[in-house]
Amino acid sequence: MTPKVRVRFAPSPTGPLHIGGVRTALFNYLFAQKHGGDFILRIEDTDQNRYVQGAEDYIVKSLAWCGIPFDEGPGNPGESGPYRQSERKDVYQQYASTLIDKGEAYYAFDTPDELDAHRKQHESKGKTFIYNWHNRLKLNNSLNLSKEATQIKIASGHPFVIRFKSPQDQKMQLKDMVRGNIDIDTNVLDDKILFKGDGMPTYHLANVVDDHLMGITHVIRGEEWLPSLALHHLLYDAFGWDRPKFAHLPLIMKPTGKGKLSKRDGEKGGFPVFPLAWNEAQGYREAGYFPEAVVNFLAMLGWNPGTEQELFSLDELVQSFSLERVNKSGARFDPEKTKWYNHHW
Ligand code: GLU
Repeated sequence: MTPKVRVRFAPSPTGPLHIGGVRTALFNYLFAQKHGGDFILRIEDTDQNRYVQGAEDYIVKSLAWCGIPFDEGPGNPGESGPYRQSERKDVYQQYASTLIDKGEAYYAFDTPDELDAHRKQHESKGKTFIYNWHNRLKLNNSLNLSKEATQIKIASGHPFVIRFKSPQDQKMQLKDMVRGNIDIDTNVLDDKILFKGDGMPTYHLANVVDDHLMGITHVIRGEEWLPSLALHHLLYDAFGWDRPKFAHLPLIMKPTGKGKLSKRDGEKGGFPVFPLAWNEAQGYREAGYFPEAVVNFLAMLGWNPGTEQELFSLDELVQSFSLERVNKSGARFDPEKTKWYNHHW
């Protein structure tokens, strides 16, 4: 039996949502509705340096404004708000230890200066420095400490991180529902940091662990995460877990079609951050648009219904939506179309 569809929107609370973020939430919601599944909200707030006070509230209010409800929350289905990664630190610590025990991850004690020196040394020879287990062995065998020596170093308060041990000489085929198959040679992968000395996981570990534990069947997210797909595939394999299906949504491009649309384009071009205007000092306010119009506009960014119809209600979008009709190429942000926002239908 195929499992019930479960998808998630997993924003980091680092400020106002980029319209790409709201579109990701919308596509997840449409997909869940279409398949009678669940749509959950998970706040990925483990990076304390990028955390912005009030951003979570803004995200929740923005989704509500768009008419996109999410299901369940920590311990109280239907009621109690989003999952928060900052409340799940122990879970990630436990899974980081599992990977260490399995030999799939290792403690690394390199200082930023040491890493910089390796990078420069490589660059001076015209080479890119790829930090992985095998290159470490070539660099300096003493970097690879015994279990006992590692424990002593940690106990003496030495700063450390836990890194994933990328496999050597492995050819992989990544699968993406929008992009198709992508071939990767694991030798190009850095051993990414999974867990930091401050007791916090990085995005990669927390994201994969949560997607697994929360029973996510389809990961639908922005294309900027495509470069992480190989690591995420490998993490599922390292834990021995089945992988969800992945779908990476096309980037939203500047009105000129060249380069990715940034929040700063909004300031210059006269269209606001979506869907509510927000800044740290003033909080959020209605930006003067109709939610139905904004939702319709967002749906057309990178998805095409396959018909001539241009205006859809949320219900009609649910009926028509499919990931097969998501475009591979970037979606151009057309400011002309923002005129629609001011029409109710
Ligand atoms: N926290 C990531 C973000 O803000 C989530 C990426 C993902 O959906 O896996 O974009």
